[in-house]
Amino acid sequence: MKIAVLREAAGETRVAAVPETVRKFIALGAEMAVESGAGEKAGVSDSDYKAAGATVAGRAAALKGADAILCVTGPDPVTLKGAAKGALLVGALDPGRRADDIAAYAQTGLEPLAMEKMPRITRAQSMDILSSQSNLAGYKAVVDAASIYGRAFPMMMTAAGTVSAARLFVMGVGVAGLQAIATGRRLGAQVSATDVRSATREQILSLGAKPIFVEGVAGIEGEGQGGYASETSPEYRQAQAELVSSHIAKQDIVITTALIPGRPAPRLISDAQLATMRPGSVVVDLAAEAGGNVEGAAPGRSVVRHGVTVVGAVQLARTLPADSSALFARNLYNFLAAFWDQEAGKVVLPDDDEIVKAIRVAPALTEPA
Ligand code: NAD
Repeated sequence: MKIAVLREAAGETRVAAVPETVRKFIALGAEMAVESGAGEKAGVSDSDYKAAGATVAGRAAALKGADAILCVTGPDPVTLKGAAKGALLVGALDPGRRADDIAAYAQTGLEPLAMEKMPRITRAQSMDILSSQSNLAGYKAVVDAASIYGRAFPMMMTAAGTVSAARLFVMGVGVAGLQAIATGRRLGAQVSATDVRSATREQILSLGAKPIFVEGVAGIEGEGQGGYASETSPEYRQAQAELVSSHIAKQDIVITTALIPGRPAPRLISDAQLATMRPGSVVVDLAAEAGGNVEGAAPGRSVVRHGVTVVGAVQLARTLPADSSALFARNLYNFLAAFWDQEAGKVVLPDDDEIVKAIRVAPALTEPA
């Protein structure tokens, strides 16, 4: 089985295979072809890939006869000619927003597999790109906030006087939120956090942060369907808004991460609430690309409102390309290795497998008459 690794389009810093996963694929019996320059922005040179046993070539040569193509973001379909018929295209293909490209991949004879559709089951945890990338984004959101904030995070008692600890509030305690709490704590901030899922209360406490929860109105009991949140009732949203209003005025840093699959991100902070924060405060909205948790947040930009810097964070994992690539690459390896058929010497995807069914996103092609 030949596996091609693409060089990503401009703007994407990550790469879908690193020397470690190249070696592991070769140990399984695969032949690896890496497009020249693929790892450049992630700190991996062509010679590193060669040393790991891959061939390095231009796109056409790397794709020629490939049975699988690994990518981070979905490539332009017209650039994928030459792969074997039925070749797997594996990556974050974004089927929700790129339906036309997904259809074009299928028309080119490829089988698109959207890794972000990976089900949240124990067996698939090591293949979950959303988790691996969100974890890094949660960390980076706090580090970015710390570098913008004009004060220190930890309490410091010095001969010149005391610096008080920053107060950091995390809204949405999924994978990114948990890492934001942990990072804020490591930097010495006083951390509080909230979520609609009641199961997160224990997780917040276990990280040494203070849970801030709506009392008296039901949110989402337990984990939520598949681990994900759904929309809350109007009563809950009202109670949450009041809770946020009373809490947020005392916060220096807010990290919002709240997402609802298939829906716009819930609005958690209004402009009026921002206005109650101390000037110099920093809000990082990790949901900016999905419509934003914070009123006025602009995806990919920072704006200052009422003296508060609001960062519309987009794809923060891209700002840590070496680590995010290594984790992403392992997710892809773990997936393909799990379906490696020793006898056939290639990946075999059973039609009735829960993982396979979830990530197969090609529309059914109509047979020519
Ligand atoms: P996500 O990115 O979909 O959402 C982030 C957080 O925002 C979630 O915790 C969600 O409950 C919260 N949220 C949504 N609406 C909100 C609102 N109105 N107010 C406040 N918070 C709100 O979630 P995620 O990071 O992908 O993870 C969600 C859960 O799934 C976690 O418990 C995680 O551990 C679990 N998970 C399981 C697996 C697995 O078993 N394979 C893999 C990944 C994640």
